[in-house]
Amino acid sequence: MIPLNDFRREPEELVQRQLEAMERVLRSGWYILGREVESFEERWAAECQTAQCIGVANGMDAIEIGLRALGIREGDEVITTPLTAFASVLAIIRAGATPVLADVNPATGLLDRSSVERCLSERTRAVLLVHLYGRVDDLEGWSDWCRARGIWFVEDCAQSHGASWQGRPAGSWGAFGAYSFYPTKNLGTCGDGGALVTSNAVLAARARVLRNYGQSERYHHPVLGLNSRLDELHAGILSARLPYLADFTLRRRAVAAAYRGRFVNPLVTCLAPGADPLNEVHHLFVVRCAERDRLQRHLAASGVGTLVHYPIPVHHQEPCRDLRRDPAGLVEAERFAADCLSLPCHPFLRDDEVAQVCEAINAFS
Ligand SMILES: *Cc1c(COP(=O)(O)O)cnc(C)c1O
Repeated sequence: MIPLNDFRREPEELVQRQLEAMERVLRSGWYILGREVESFEERWAAECQTAQCIGVANGMDAIEIGLRALGIREGDEVITTPLTAFASVLAIIRAGATPVLADVNPATGLLDRSSVERCLSERTRAVLLVHLYGRVDDLEGWSDWCRARGIWFVEDCAQSHGASWQGRPAGSWGAFGAYSFYPTKNLGTCGDGGALVTSNAVLAARARVLRNYGQSERYHHPVLGLNSRLDELHAGILSARLPYLADFTLRRRAVAAAYRGRFVNPLVTCLAPGADPLNEVHHLFVVRCAERDRLQRHLAASGVGTLVHYPIPVHHQEPCRDLRRDPAGLVEAERFAADCLSLPCHPFLRDDEVAQVCEAINAFS
């Protein structure tokens, strides 16, 4: 079976560099908030073209900390998508705010602006854009649109490491960008990790306090924070992996281009390609099919592993059934949940496996 991800195929040279990083941390005798974290924060901020990067424990905390650092709190509303990892919405709730759900564009799966418009209220403080499947769209437009309405534009970049819009990276357009380094993400560690990127110095300073129990200087706690630090070990591993990200992204693009070029089955539809190849980093390659479950069984029988991102939209999750949403409904997100399917698309996929996926897709009838 061709799996969705296969970390055992990482190049031996990369494995060695990660082992060296681990040994360096172990022998340094310093494990929390030290030189490795500082050095990775510098590298990732440079990569994202932001003034600052704040390493945190995971992607969900990065969103919560970012929202809290902006002063968003109880009674405030944050508009986002129901077609996302549950963590996007849970982070808004953990920050004390209220998520409001808008519908998605059927061609891309990304938030639809007219639906977001219908969700606005006097309490709206921010729009959390999720760069789903590794794709960014019209970040300049979103940034202007939010600014004109006096609300924050913030980015969930957990799936979009390396994606850019008009030459500027994901995470640099909003008040902050929240990254996850969960193992399956385009840049991942062998455990949990996350980061917030921003060029707003006040926001960055608040985030540094929030990630460390709300501690301003040693033993002084002016606010109630979290224990959410990226640790030295994961920072070292991420610094070892970062130089490989660009090549891994190129391979993902090549796999996606092969799929788009070679799928000729009218029953299976690819998402619309991005305006520019640089807008997409193909965290997932998603197709749509009216008989999704049957396609999934067919592919499994042909040796192709798949997953569904995401089978249950957020508003159908038990704790979220009463969330306010677009009065026109969330029809497109529900359709996506019913008919989307993620195919293997990772940097270590071999050409013969790409061919096998294409044959299996084209043989579905
Ligand atoms: C993975 C993911 C998250 C959460 O990241 P964690 O590091 O697992 O907390 C948030 N949003 C999206 C879109 C994700 O894919």
